[in-house]
Order: sequence, then C-alpha cells, then structure tokens
Amino acid sequence: MQMTSGPTDYQELLHTAMAAAERTAGQGRVADYIPALATADPNAFGMALATVDGDLHGVGDWEQSFSVQSVSKLFSLALVLTHREHQLWRGVGREPSGNPFNSLVQLEKENGIPRNPFINAGALVVTDRLQSLTGDAAGAVRDFLRQESGNPLLDTDPVVAASEAEHGHRNAALAHFIASHGNLENPVETVLDRYYAQCSIAASCRDLALAGRFLARHGLRADGSRLMPGSDAKRINAVLLTCGAYDAAGEFAFRVGLPGKSGVGGGIVAILPGRAAVCAWGPSLDKVGNSVAAVAALDAFTTASGWSVF
Ligand code: GLN
Repeated sequence: MQMTSGPTDYQELLHTAMAAAERTAGQGRVADYIPALATADPNAFGMALATVDGDLHGVGDWEQSFSVQSVSKLFSLALVLTHREHQLWRGVGREPSGNPFNSLVQLEKENGIPRNPFINAGALVVTDRLQSLTGDAAGAVRDFLRQESGNPLLDTDPVVAASEAEHGHRNAALAHFIASHGNLENPVETVLDRYYAQCSIAASCRDLALAGRFLARHGLRADGSRLMPGSDAKRINAVLLTCGAYDAAGEFAFRVGLPGKSGVGGGIVAILPGRAAVCAWGPSLDKVGNSVAAVAALDAFTTASGWSVF
C-alpha cells in the first residue's frame, strides 16, 4: 500500500472527508422503497476509522446508529466462509452483475445461481447457507457485530424488519425463483425472515469500522484469534471490490480505489488492507443506491491520503 510521508493524522483526514461530504448537501434521495427508512435525516453524516493497531477515530454522527442493510451481506458471507464444510460457491457466483441489486433478470438465464453474494439474490443464498450452518443466520451476524464492536446493545430494529417484510415482493420473488431451481436449503419464509432481520440491524459507523477490521487484518478478529485464513480475507476483499457497490462497483473502484460494501441505509464500509477499516454514512442515495455523501467522503479520503489498493 502506498504511504504518505510523515506522521498520520487520521483525524485531519476524516475532517477533509467530511468537508467533501458536506459539499454534496441536497444531492440524492433517502431510500423510501422500505418505508421505515424514509424517516432518516438526509443531512446526517458520520465517518469512523479503526486501525489494525487498535486506534479508533471518528467525525460527525459516527456513533449514531443507522440501518446497515446490504452492508450486512459482507458479514454473512464472511461467516459462511468460516465453516469448513460450506459449499457456497456451488450456489453463487463471483462476477459483477452490472444490474440493479434487486434485479430478477439474470436469475432466469443463469438457472437460479445468482451472479455474486452481494446482489439481493446472492445474499439470499448466503443467508440460507448461514441458516443451515448456524440455525440463526441473522443472530450469527448480530453476535459477530456485537463481539467485534464491543457494543452489546447492537440489534435488529424490528420496525425496519417488519417494513421490509411488508414491502418485500421483489425479494420474495427472488427467493421463490431460487427455490424453484433447488438452490435454497431452507423454506423461503425462513430465508426471507432471517434476511430482513440481518439487513435491519442498526449499527453506527464506529461499530461497523470495528467489525470490518478483520478484513484489514487479513482474517484476525478483534481479540487476536483467527476468523479465517488470510487467503479467504483476500477473496472477500476481491469480491467487495468487484461487486460491493451494486452496478456502480466500477465507478466506486474508480473514485475510491478500495474494496467496499454499501447499503441503502446510506452506510459504506471500506477496507484499507493492512492498515484500517473505515465506515462512512449519509442517508441520501444516488440512483444506484449508494450514499452520495459516503462515496464523496471516501473519494476525498483516499485522494488526500494517497492510500488505495492500487
Ligand atoms: N434489505 C434491502 C433489500 O433487500 C437491502 C438492499 C440494499 O441495501 N441494497 O432491498
């Protein structure tokens, strides 16, 4: 990884990033296809950075909880891969989809095998496998986030989960279609319930930067134990880079130059391998569903620091 000279002033870098986020005020729209998300303050912004050495920095609303949504998909994937007996890659691919995250079109042509684990179809398969492996997929994600962040209060927001379920026709269609191809091990209702519970976890930038740090530490958890081999952490980072920002993964790589996962709650977790995990959050989304402020902040952060994986 490229380094700047002189001592690192993380706090100053975060302020530079926040200033870039503030310049996007008025752009984008808060997600409202899940009605419970529509109440988020479009002007909120926070950003946190957790270094591999254990330092933690934050600016703005970095300790305020928001709906993690698709950011949860990074953690459910990681947890499936920790089970030696998983056969996940038989049921889900590793190619960018180039389609909206909730699209149905590719599934038909590709026989119910979703393109990658981060589009909704792929994440439903991941949740299904995690459910088989643990008995409670959303509980496994929640417990992992609690342990890594040290925040015992982190939990699913039942109002958001209910709102997702009530307006979840596309996800239900995806799950039934995947099941029709024999690519779900659990009942569709169970998979959808656990998927909504996982997406509806409320967590802060602080919590998510700490929880994502294992990917910057090549698979080591907060307590120093090994979650996964470094080669699996590398693979997750690779899929994050190519597929983590929906059909704007190329644009995200172009602007930010880091592996990252976004969610329609407005959060983005990005990884600086060997150095830190960062999480930026702002609820207003661009047309693809990525946070306008968080992308601008991460862009400014990597531009000012010179850090990227390239
Ligand atoms: N729970 C959301 C959904 O299924 C997650 C989407 C997202 O964050 N991209 O539509």
